[in-house]
Amino acid sequence: MYLLHDHELSAHFGIRATQEKVKEKYYWKGMNKDIEEYVKSCEKCQRRGRISSKYEMNPIEIKEPFYQIGIDFVGPLPFTKKKKRYIIVAMDYFTKWPEARAVTRDTAEETAKFIYEDIICRHGCPQKIISDRGTHFKNRLIESLTERFNIKHNFSTSYHPQTNGLVERFNKTLCEALAKLSTNNDWDEKIPSILFAYRNKVHSSTKVKPFYLVYGRKARYFDNDDPSDDERIIELLQKLPSTRRRAKEEIVKAQSKQKEYHDKRIRKSHPNFEIRNKVLKFEASKDNARTGKLDDKWRGPYLIHDIQGNNVYKIKTLDGKVFKTPINGKLLKIYHDRKDYLRI
Ligand SMILES: [Zn+2]
Repeated sequence: MYLLHDHELSAHFGIRATQEKVKEKYYWKGMNKDIEEYVKSCEKCQRRGRISSKYEMNPIEIKEPFYQIGIDFVGPLPFTKKKKRYIIVAMDYFTKWPEARAVTRDTAEETAKFIYEDIICRHGCPQKIISDRGTHFKNRLIESLTERFNIKHNFSTSYHPQTNGLVERFNKTLCEALAKLSTNNDWDEKIPSILFAYRNKVHSSTKVKPFYLVYGRKARYFDNDDPSDDERIIELLQKLPSTRRRAKEEIVKAQSKQKEYHDKRIRKSHPNFEIRNKVLKFEASKDNARTGKLDDKWRGPYLIHDIQGNNVYKIKTLDGKVFKTPINGKLLKIYHDRKDYLRI
């Protein structure tokens, strides 16, 4: 286990990777459990890693089409003939209608132009835009644009870990399709047709085509069966509202499934600590991108000394010195003692 986990040629990879490597050469009863325990109790591994989000998921409320959109960048991709290198992508949270545009650079100017031309001028002002904290989203230009049109700009946080998952999933689909359709780096020319295809595909979470939720009719393809005026009126007055209502219900269902999965994982990785638990404490200042990146991030082990409620704890050193400042449980993780393998 030492050779296949700690050694330079194994480089402290995770539990699964170590199990796979050991299995190539050895077998013993209960080996998976042993390896899991071994890796979990690795000094080096325990002292690295970030604090993970402890928050439960709070699903976003779905209101109406183009009430809230997510926005994201894809790239850099191979240059096209027109010198395009990135794609700005946006998606409506309700209808799952995507917009996308190939751009030369991932700048604030390109982003602002996209939000104005492809979102506001086409669908009206959204109430909310959600993005990550990239510099092309978080800047003065975008701020003045959103202020001017009275749009709230939310940045995804660990409080809403799923926030931009919607756009990220679409990005994957988009890139897959681009890879299949483009030849000689002409991927920028394939974007409109892929958007059309996506808008006219039943979406897995709403169970309706985005095109229908937006327009209240089917897109004409190769056929010509136009509805009569009466049929169209019934469609708009009866069918569309009820389909939208059902789509909303489906989204809520999908969200609560996601929440359940997410929260279960959170509860597993963040136990409530008990008195005398051995824990490591995260040193926030060491998590700076510029300094100390290779330093240990987790100090300790310490012992849980007192539970103050609300996920706040007092800790002490192994020889009993109690720290004055209470610590948020978010900054603690269980320390796993290494078994003395040589004595077994
Ligand atoms: Zn390790």
